[in-house]
Amino acid sequence: MDVTNPSNSCYDTIVLGAGIQGSFTAYHLAKNKRRTLLIEQFILPHSRGSSHGQTRITRMGYQEDYYTRMMKDCFTLWAQLESEAKVKIYSHTGLLLFGKNDDKQLGKIQRTMKHSGNPPEILTHDDFTRKFPNVSLQPGEVAFMDRVAGVLYANQALLTVQKLFQDMGGVIRDREKVIDIQPGNLVTVKTASGAYKAKSLVITAGPWTNSVLNQIALQLPLKTLRINVCYWKEKVAGTYGLSHNFPCFIGSDVCNTGHDIYGLPSNEYPGLMKICYHSGEESDPEKRDIIGRGTPQDIKILGEFVKKYFPGLESEPAVVESCMYTCTPDNNFILDCHPVHENIIIGAGFSGHGFKLSPVVGKILCELSMGKTPSHDISPFKMNRFSIKLKSAL
Ligand SMILES: Cc1cc2nc3c(=O)[nH]c(=O)nc-3n(C[C@H](O)[C@H](O)[C@H](O)COP(=O)(O)OP(=O)(O)OC[C@H]3O[C@@H](n4cnc5c(N)ncnc54)[C@H](O)[C@@H]3O)c2cc1C
Repeated sequence: MDVTNPSNSCYDTIVLGAGIQGSFTAYHLAKNKRRTLLIEQFILPHSRGSSHGQTRITRMGYQEDYYTRMMKDCFTLWAQLESEAKVKIYSHTGLLLFGKNDDKQLGKIQRTMKHSGNPPEILTHDDFTRKFPNVSLQPGEVAFMDRVAGVLYANQALLTVQKLFQDMGGVIRDREKVIDIQPGNLVTVKTASGAYKAKSLVITAGPWTNSVLNQIALQLPLKTLRINVCYWKEKVAGTYGLSHNFPCFIGSDVCNTGHDIYGLPSNEYPGLMKICYHSGEESDPEKRDIIGRGTPQDIKILGEFVKKYFPGLESEPAVVESCMYTCTPDNNFILDCHPVHENIIIGAGFSGHGFKLSPVVGKILCELSMGKTPSHDISPFKMNRFSIKLKSAL
């Protein structure tokens, strides 16, 4: 391979987009000794997509058995990454889940946890008050713990995966936006700096997925949402701190809006706890930071939630950052081949819960691009569950 001029080389696979999904795909490809190019539009690291920031929640408990099965592998792969790189990526905290006693989501999570051999630890109101005196569980609400859950250090994880990929001979070209894709037995990918060829292409473009897929005549039913990442000041520093063993939490539809609220113990910004609304306003990723006047509705809802459930926090956010979700109509991922060009693989629609699953997502996308049978059942992730738009030009 011509390393001095990567555009003269033919790769086994090109991965488009160096967020966590593309970076993990590239890592698995390099492990499989595939000559791999990872292309990114921005200078790395960047904060324009979905994979930046210090922390993400990881957990075993999911409503769907297939995610819980994937998570078992993910815990192993995250630990493997830590030991390969000798870097700390995960802190064990546990996850507190709570909501109304007839909440369907909580019921399903409890059931899959029982099946998976990681049964939930059910908390009575007395247990709850003893363990979490600074959280106000409401009358008629139930709570339980996912004991194996914790925090992933997102920025650290992303850097580590990219470094290990390069250590294995993988090539990263950042600051190169892909502007044209020509399908074929050899796929040609053009950027302003050159043209690259490969036997297969994996597209992991996050919120830009549909603008990239437009180049190959495909559109998926994806919505891109701006997420306000809010940090709330502790009245007494450390009350909700990771160092005080405070867990992550998910309040299931606690504000009757159909959306969850989740939080992570104070850690990355001392004295500030991260609490976010699991939805946001629809927004073009290019216009993410153009915001209107007044307090956004999600921040108002969060403020009310904080007052009601977390009396030890100030009820105005001290810091608001932003990030993007790319959501499918059913909030399940899309992991599939292009319907016409089988050597073009798409990983998209991670719907605000893809970080923890990225080691297995990357493995599946790698397997699909190598023509192998995926190591997990991907039938829930096929794009034909939706009516997709395929232009006839190609
Ligand atoms: C606020 C917030 C909180 C979250 N919390 C959790 C959590 O607690 N647990 C969890 O599991 N998940 C969580 N998630 C979800 C998780 O972070 C995402 O699912 C994941 O990061 C998606 O990664 P990605 O690689 O698909 O997208 P991205 O990170 O957006 O990567 C896509 C990349 O493609 C590049 N790209 C796009 N177009 C082009 C082009 N034409 N040419 C070259 N490059 C291109 C982009 O620049 C970008 O770098 C959260 C997300 C947000 C926003």
